[in-house]
Parts: sequence; structure tokens; C-alpha cells
Amino acid sequence: MNERLLAARLAATRVTDRPGPLTGDLPRIYHAWHQELHGRLAQRFVDLQPSQLFVTCTANARSELVIGPDSRTIVHDQHLGRTLNRMTSYVIREWPASRVQSWAFERLATLAFVGGDLTSTQLGLAFASRFRSADEPPPPDETLDRVRGVFAGAQEFFVLAHEVAHTALGSAAHERLEGHLQDELDAELARTEVVGTKNADEIAAQLARDVATAVERHTGQSPPIDFAPPARLLRAEDGLDERAWLRAHRFLYEEVACDLIATELTLEHFAESDPSIGPQTVLPAILMALHHLTSLEFLATVVDPRALELEATLQATMVRKSVWRDMTRKMYEAERGELGRMYVSATQHHAKYLGDQVLFIVPGHWREAQESLAGRARDNAPDVALLRDAVWSFAKPG
Ligand SMILES: [Zn+2]
Repeated sequence: MNERLLAARLAATRVTDRPGPLTGDLPRIYHAWHQELHGRLAQRFVDLQPSQLFVTCTANARSELVIGPDSRTIVHDQHLGRTLNRMTSYVIREWPASRVQSWAFERLATLAFVGGDLTSTQLGLAFASRFRSADEPPPPDETLDRVRGVFAGAQEFFVLAHEVAHTALGSAAHERLEGHLQDELDAELARTEVVGTKNADEIAAQLARDVATAVERHTGQSPPIDFAPPARLLRAEDGLDERAWLRAHRFLYEEVACDLIATELTLEHFAESDPSIGPQTVLPAILMALHHLTSLEFLATVVDPRALELEATLQATMVRKSVWRDMTRKMYEAERGELGRMYVSATQHHAKYLGDQVLFIVPGHWREAQESLAGRARDNAPDVALLRDAVWSFAKPG
């Protein structure tokens, strides 16, 4: 699609004053990656479709594929990259909970604004500023900051590789892959224990304990008695048979196939560009990216009034992660070993510093505030332009 048209479309549909195409160091890197990814895929697949890359920056932090009559354009949002980078910093640098909460409320304000809910936008902004400077950020630490940089780089490469894999592979390639994957997954999942409905009570109890631990960890006090795990989350995990789920949601095969292709491409990229960055770094970085993406999806369900329908999205992201873990263990365990332990500790660390906030703490505050607002008379009508500026300021580069 014509770049001017695309820019106009982005300016009209998103919160931004930089619809692009952006130039500069970062976009140059993305274009180089895009070319590299096409080259690597061309070595494996004959029916590769050409695609263009268009770099933008919007508060939405979302990449999308725009299909024209004879073109496919990947719109890559550099704010998504910066968001992943920031989330990675929260986990690796172990940021205080209040700062993470402030960021999560910024995301909720943005999502509410995008959904046209101005009152909730105000609420999100108010919470974000209340928590913003409650605690100091962690002091600089060169070693950890370097790790953070490497992780964030691998995650950004992975996310772009995933998009390119979707876009560049023709439907024939996807069908072959999905067929192959279905057999592999059936065999793999048959060996792992499937959560049965009869275990639902156990799962509920475990989730309640997790919530209690999460609340205690972050507030230093026992949770209020009625602090129950969000019903949505319970239903999402309850009695989930991954094989049946995958059969009923065929699009997920493509998601999982693109995740696995992107994982391989990311490993290759680093093996060539910096051999010191091996699978023991790249795989946990990618797992962290999948956790980040789940957290972002979940935040979207918190502000969405159609959240019940989005239960499916949640299940999809859970299955996607769990399948990725099973498959990569199978693919790389022989050369790596210890992957399982690494995945468990990466997952726990993510939960402690980011996931718990997003899944339990922030939605709890949000619901309480919504309820207490519901009974009250509204002040003046919100000023849309002011709210838009506030939301865009979270994304606007320096
Ligand atoms: Zn995808």
C-alpha cells in the first residue's frame, strides 16, 4: 500500500503524531532485520511472499498486517518494542511494585482511551500518577543492564520474525506446517498430563493460594477475605485439554508454527551475529516475551466491556506458551539440557516482578475504583484533547 495512504490511515485510527514511515537508527535496524528474515526464510521455503515493512510509533503499541491488492505491509510499532524493553527491565532489574503498577495503569488509561471510555481513561491516569514516584527505581547496574539489553534485543527480533513468518509464508507452507505440527503435538501432549475437570477444585484452591501469596508479597499484609482470583482466569485454566483446544482452534497451529519458526530464526541470528548469545540466553528471553505478550493481552481484557468473550484469548495465550515450552524442550533439550528448570525460574521471576501485578493487583484496584465511581455524580465532561495528549506522552519518543 502507498505509504502516504498508510500514514493517513494510522493517523486516523491510532493515538500518534508520528504515523511514519519513521527513519533513524531504530527503523534502520528493523529494516535490516526484515531483509535478513526474508533471506533466512527463502532458504527454507520456495513459495515465499514478498512483504514491505513500515515503521511507526503509536500509543497503541501494536503491530499489524495491512493487505493491499498486490502488497503485504507489516506495520511495525516501535512503541511495542519499547514496551517489551520496559517490561523486561521491570523483571530483570526487579523494579518496585509501585512503579510497575504505575506503568500498568498507564497501559489501562491508553487502552480505555483507544476504546472510547474517557472516564476510565481519567481513572487510569489518576492511578498512574498516584503510584509513579512512590518508590525509587533500582540504581544503575552495568551487568544487569547489559543482560536487559540482550534480552530486549532478542525479544524484538523474535516479535518481528513472528510477523514475517505469518506474512511471508504462503498458505501452502502454513498448511504443511500445521499438519506436521498437529501430529507432533498430539504425540507430545499425549505424554503430558492433561488437566481434567475433576481437578477444577484443586486448581481453584491453588489459584486462591497464588493470589494470596501475590497480595502478601506486594502489600506486606494478608489479603482481604473476599479476595478471590478473577473468575475469568479460573474459567480459562479450568479443565483445559490442550489437544482438544488446539483441534477446535486451528488458527493456533499457525500461531504456534510462527512462534517456533521465529524461535529458530532468532537463535540463528544470534549464532551468527554474536555467538556468545546462545540458546541459554535466547530461549528464556523468548519465554519472557511470551509472558509479556500474555500480560499485555490480559490488561486489554481488564478495560474491555466484552471481556467475557476474551476468555478465549486468554486460553489461547496460555496454550500458546505451554505448547512453545513443550516443543522447544523437545527440539533443543538434547543439546541444552536443563531447559525445564530454566523455564520454571524464568516464569516465577516474571510472575513475582510483573505477572502478579498485571493479573491480580492492578485489576483488583481497578475494579474497586470502578465500583466506587459508579455511584458518584460526574464532574465536568472530560477534555478529549487533554486526555489524548496525556496518553500519547507515554509513547512519544524523547
Ligand atoms: Zn501471530
